[in-house]
Parts: sequence; C-alpha cells; structure tokens
Amino acid sequence: MKLLKAIQNNAKLHPERVVFISPTKQITYGELWQNSDQWAAFITAQNLNKQTPILVYGHMEPEMLVSFLGSAKAGHPYIPVDTSIPLDRVEKIISNSQTELLINVSGLELVLESSVKIITSEELGNYCGNSIDIDNWVRENDDFYIIYTSGSTGNPKGVQISANNLQSFVDWMLEDFPIDGGLRFLNQAPFSFDLSVMDLYPALASGGTLAAITKEMIAKPKILFEELMKSKTQVWTSTPSFVQMCLMDPSFTSELLPELSVFLFCGEILPITVCKQLRERFPNARIFNTYGPTEATVAVTFIEITDDMLNKYQTLPVGAAKSDTQIILLNEENIPVPEGKKGEIIIVGPSVSKGYLGQPELTNKAFFTHNGQQAYRTGDAGFIEQGLLFYKGRLDFQIKLHGYRMELEEIEYHIAKSQYVKSAVVVPIYQEDKIEYLSVLIIPAEHPFEKEYQLTGAIKKELGLVLPAYMIPRKFSYHKELPITPNGKVDRKEIREKVLL
Ligand code: AMP
Repeated sequence: MKLLKAIQNNAKLHPERVVFISPTKQITYGELWQNSDQWAAFITAQNLNKQTPILVYGHMEPEMLVSFLGSAKAGHPYIPVDTSIPLDRVEKIISNSQTELLINVSGLELVLESSVKIITSEELGNYCGNSIDIDNWVRENDDFYIIYTSGSTGNPKGVQISANNLQSFVDWMLEDFPIDGGLRFLNQAPFSFDLSVMDLYPALASGGTLAAITKEMIAKPKILFEELMKSKTQVWTSTPSFVQMCLMDPSFTSELLPELSVFLFCGEILPITVCKQLRERFPNARIFNTYGPTEATVAVTFIEITDDMLNKYQTLPVGAAKSDTQIILLNEENIPVPEGKKGEIIIVGPSVSKGYLGQPELTNKAFFTHNGQQAYRTGDAGFIEQGLLFYKGRLDFQIKLHGYRMELEEIEYHIAKSQYVKSAVVVPIYQEDKIEYLSVLIIPAEHPFEKEYQLTGAIKKELGLVLPAYMIPRKFSYHKELPITPNGKVDRKEIREKVLL
C-alpha cells in the first residue's frame, strides 16, 4: 500500500525525526516503524481469523499509532476506541466486530466480560518475533480501520474504511491542501473520531510531526495554551467548536502560534463569525472548510474561505468535491434536483466505505452502486450553486453537539431502557443555528425517589454505564404525558414549540 510505503520511506530517510508528541512521551519515525513491525509479528503469531479487526484501546499515547500500523502490517484492520467510551459500549463493539485481540495501550486496567484476548503495550514491548513480510500488509479493498459511530437502533455501527478508501483521501489531502513537506500538525480529535484521520495520515505520509492535545489539556485551559505554544503548530485540524472554544481566550492569536499557516475544519457548520475572528487574529493563515461523513473517509469537499466569501455569504459553502468524487443531490423520488434546489447529498467515489461491519440491512439502506462506483446516502440536505455545495441540515435525527456526531434515537433508546422511565424524547436546544445542549422529556415509571433531582441522578448514573458523557442530555424534565401526532408518533414539533417554552 502506497501510504504504508510512504511511512516506511520517511522512517528510512529520517529515523530520528519525531513523529508524535504526547504529554509524557514522544516517538520517532524509526521507532514507530520498528515497533509496529514487532507488534505486527506478535499479531501474526496469534493465528487470528483472516482480517478480523484488532481493537486498540487508549487515548493519545504514541502506542496508538504503533498499534494501528502493527495491525495494518499484519493484514488486520484496527478499531480505535478512546478511553472515554464506557465499557458496556466497548463490549458491544467487540461483539459486533468479532474482535479476538484487544491491545490496551491506555495503562488502565480493563476488565471485560467478553473472552477477547487483552494484551498491553508493556507486554508487547517485550515481544521479539520475525519481521513482517510486505505481502502481509492490508491492501486494496481490505479494511484498514473501522470507526464506530452512533446508531439509531441503540447500538453503535462500525464504518469499514479500506486501504483504497484511505489512500484516495490521503492523496487528495496532500495534493489539494498546502500541508505537504514535513510540517507540524495538531492532533486534537481522539482517534475514535475520524477527524483524527485528517491530521494523522497526511502527517505520516508527508514526514510531518503530530502534537497531541489530550482531554486532560482541554479540561485545563492554562495547560492547553502552554501546550499549544510548545507545539509550534503549522497545520491546525479541529472541529469549528474546538477553535471557537480557543477563540474565547484573547491570547489565541498568531503570537501564540506564529507559524500556523493552515486551518482545516470539518464535521459541522463553520460559522462566519469564527472565520472573521481567525482572519483578524491569524492574518497569515489560510482557512479551509471541508465536508464529509465518516462513511466517505473523513471529507470529500473543500473550499478555501476568503475575505470576499465572508462578506458575500450568509452561510459558508462546503465547497466542491475532490477530483475523484461526485456529489449528486436527489429528491425524495431519487431523481436529481436542478441547480439551486435542495436535495439529499449523495457521495459517489473511491473513498466511500463498503458499509457497516456485520450490518447488511443498515448497509443496504445507506449504500449503493452508481455507474460502477460505491455511493452513500448521507442523510444531509444540501444544494449546489455555481459549482459549490451548501449544507442545509439533516433529514433525520442525527445531530452534531460540540462537534460530536450522535443519533437522538440512540440516546432515547438507552434512556427508555432505564427502570425509572416509561418513555423519553430527546430534543436539541438551539442558540441561533447551533445546538447548545440536549434536553430530555421523560414520562417516569414508578420510582422510589422523593425529589426530581434524585431521579435524574439515578437515570444519569445508569446512562453513564452505556453512553459516552457527551451523549448524556444536560437538562431533564418530567411530564405526565407528551404530545402525540395523529399517526401515533411523538410530536417533536409541538414539544419544541409548546412544551419547552
Ligand atoms: P462525522 O461522520 O462525525 O464526520 O459526521 C458527518 C456529518 O457531519 C455530516 O453528515 C454532516 O451532517 C456534518 N458535517 C460534516 N462536515 C460539515 C461541514 N463542513 N458543515 C456542516 N456540516 C458538516
């Protein structure tokens, strides 16, 4: 695979160059290449079923990268799972993916019910095996990684990204963005979110260095800013929400990061106000808006945001498709809509995933072939004007909150499973165009609590076992009944307009 060969080449040319810096450790290209060979040898010696995924559990340790490459060199896809994911969800991922081996690089003790073999980075560090033959590497249509996202049925779904999908993405990034040539990248998104792929593989393929921003840093702004300054970042990749948080501090300027030359954004609407502030505070940096879902490998459209655009548009475009990809807009009858008219965004091209692991029904609903190429129905609405795609929100109950993707139905499913709940509806609360927080309206079942806050505490405790913290609603309210539409569904519109007032 071209990407792995490029990383190998970087390891040969600059073995001493640092590839990844985390708060406690850093690792060079030479170490990354050698250690991942060793770990690949270990994986191969386990005689796992062909191409079964390896689950990699950790946060932003350099060993995450070693595990990813080790898996790929041994011919297995990896599933990155961040330590913020509750164990119940980890078990679901293991059972859906039929993972036989879990590499725990977190340093945390991991006690699971499933019988998966767990190996720690310390144990792997002592392993000596034969070096790995290039013929074993993941290639072409084999899965390179599988990222789990929120699923409306209550279970996360695993998006399979092949070596070819990833190669198409990395080639595009290095060709159409000014990020080639051994630059310093910021790694803000945890690896279980595909935004992390936007900095990880372009950096590795081009001999760059990544500086990790961990959740502990994000929780302490003073440390975050010290680390940002130390990082000397040149290429910034984050959600708009993250940069918006940084902008709240007046010291977030080109004085803090004098070498910053490129901002790459993806994952949610990029507000004009954010871009205007960035233009003022980082006058020499270029800003790119990109758009795409995990299912089409991170992003497929892009546009450089200029001052002209900031004056011209009310909402920024997400740009034009990369050269190997086509965007089609379809109406409800699956007929292409004319220019300027709203339709569902369909992505066709070589970076579109083959589907959800072990979920043929879900896959068939969302994926199809178009003129011999893989196509994905995004569930996003949009329109095209003068060759530029504009995003116009969702057609279903998937949302983005602080940059995190989630299905309201998944949250409702878990709340309704609580012993204290008869039924529940989760409603996003907006401030202007952006979701501020989630509110849940509950019809309670019988419960032993005197006060509502005790009931809320008990439900939240149950939820904490099954959902990541960012999916748990901020506001809980209790009702005798909830409005129902004539066809018997919960009337969300009525709730938004009347009940929540
Ligand atoms: P994820 O799979 O987490 O990357 O989320 C994909 C979804 O995020 C897309 O289907 C869109 O709904 C939304 N999204 C991604 N990029 C943008 C963007 N630039 N502007 C608006 N929404 C976006």
